Amino acid sequence: MSEILLDKSAFLSNLTKISQKLGGKEKIMLIAKDNSYGHGSAQIAGIAREFGIKKAVVKSEMEAEQIAEFYDEILILSHIPTGCEKPDFSYAINDMSHFSKIKNGSKVHISVDTLMHRNGILPEQLDDALRLVRENHLNLGGFYTHFRASDEIGSDFFVQRENWRNFKISAQKKCKNLGFNVVFHSCNSAAIERSEEFSDDFARVGMAQFGYFQFSEILGLKPVLSLYADRISSRLLKKGERVGYGGVFEAPCDILISTYDLGYGDGLLRYNGKGDLRLGNNEKILGKMSMDSFASKDAGERVCVFDDARVWARFFNTIEYEILVKLSANIKRTVK
Ligand SMILES: *Cc1c(COP(=O)(O)O)cnc(C)c1O
Repeated sequence: MSEILLDKSAFLSNLTKISQKLGGKEKIMLIAKDNSYGHGSAQIAGIAREFGIKKAVVKSEMEAEQIAEFYDEILILSHIPTGCEKPDFSYAINDMSHFSKIKNGSKVHISVDTLMHRNGILPEQLDDALRLVRENHLNLGGFYTHFRASDEIGSDFFVQRENWRNFKISAQKKCKNLGFNVVFHSCNSAAIERSEEFSDDFARVGMAQFGYFQFSEILGLKPVLSLYADRISSRLLKKGERVGYGGVFEAPCDILISTYDLGYGDGLLRYNGKGDLRLGNNEKILGKMSMDSFASKDAGERVCVFDDARVWARFFNTIEYEILVKLSANIKRTVK
């Protein structure tokens, strides 16, 4: 049966290098959203706790519950207030309307829109936000922002970072006067790579933990996930015969081909049989991918589909995030 192998030593080495860059592992808020970018949140959380990570960030309450036992604090990013929030979690405030809808007493981190214009309050709404925190008796844990172009070369990132720094100075002063003890976080992986000095309380570490860097290999990160498919059947495809839906691949000579047990139903992007999509052994996928299988030249019982998601990301003109996050939760994950 197909399987995802998680390289524990690569993951620990990545966490060590990121900790060094940030000045301590206690600065890490580990992003675990979307099944830890497809890696498997339960498996990843187990190793992260062993390493000493105390804080995680997820998308939803459901995700938070799945890994609650592993972390001291879990921040939920995309929560829409229900009035039934739990005291165990921290909730992002993404909109001014959330203050009055979220349950009194909830622990919150306020998202600040410093340029991305996706979520959060505007810096000039700080006074109103602090008033609403008090009126609704919320437990204010901190403020954060997200960079819109930390992974793109250009001045955009620096402009936004300046906006954040200015916001931070004023929020620090106001919170001190009000007696609020708050933390600040802004950097994702690419922003960490670009920060010559790290000045927030925490960084939200996403893709870097899994071994993918955006700018340079300076940190020496290593991919954690490799994906394997197992052979279902084999046959000799004679010269001129075709394999799979629509018979898109025609054998130029007799080839022993095999069908392996992963397809687009398992979250792989669907290869339409055109162009060279290479497996981990450098062989091509032959013909259109099926929902639950693909064909290639026989490579034995097990074939590595990829051990570096960038190969598939380049082929499909997308980012490694999308390749990894789509991997079905039904694929078995094993830590090795
Ligand atoms: C996903 C996400 C991150 C992590 O981004 P990476 O580029 O994977 O490090 C950080 N902050 C927020 C708000 C996010 O949504």
